[in-house]
Amino acid sequence: MRRKIAAGNWKMNKTLEEGKALTSEVMNMIEDEIRDDVKIVLCPPFIHLTTLQGLLKGKNQISLGAQNCSEHASGAYTGEISAPMLQSIGVEYVILGHSERREYYGESNELLAKKLNIALENNLTPIFCCGEPLQIREKDMQTEYVRKQIQASLFHLSQNDVARIVIAYEPIWAIGTGKTATTDQAQEMHATIRKQITEKYGQETANNISILYGGSVKPDNAKELFACMDVDGGLIGGASLKSRDFVDIAKSF
Ligand code: PEP
Repeated sequence: MRRKIAAGNWKMNKTLEEGKALTSEVMNMIEDEIRDDVKIVLCPPFIHLTTLQGLLKGKNQISLGAQNCSEHASGAYTGEISAPMLQSIGVEYVILGHSERREYYGESNELLAKKLNIALENNLTPIFCCGEPLQIREKDMQTEYVRKQIQASLFHLSQNDVARIVIAYEPIWAIGTGKTATTDQAQEMHATIRKQITEKYGQETANNISILYGGSVKPDNAKELFACMDVDGGLIGGASLKSRDFVDIAKSF
């Protein structure tokens, strides 16, 4: 059975006090409102992780994720944060390959392959993001585009390691735009990704990998998206900054 996940990517938002308030609100709401089999992952900015880890003690349904990590374990890389550091403070997940990192910080498929390795070596669960820009969708070449991202970054992994990752399909034209993929568009790409994993790693591995949808998920569209056969949850940006919206999305399974 694959895990249902609602992951919130706060990006570069929230001061520490605001982040603590948001986390407490989510913690209080999920107590009565969210199914036990739904995993909540909060991905705040790095500097809030330790404090929020303290707040979340004993709340096993909520895990923390980072929004990135270095491809190196340690050394002279000013401004970077490593996977061993994240592991040392109890972080469990790390978003890798978000389109904003690919676009603004030049992260390539090859670099992401290295980041995946080091994340897995340090027992972090990568949330590996893939997805096509608008011009590719307009040419109807999204399948080839996403297949290439997955092949170049994931297919060096062993079957055991690939089984430890979460994939997030995030069409770039739907991120922060208010323009959501239709359920047909989301299901089609998720099924394509699962088929690609099946071809390389077999049916059982593919059946167990959670594939999240990301791109303007809101309380009013989450239910229909999460009802798609191959959509196992969401990576949520803007709507994860409001506790009520985020929890309403997490209730939509
Ligand atoms: C994201 O940044 O991963 C994302 C899906 O953002 P939004 O929900 O705001 O579109």
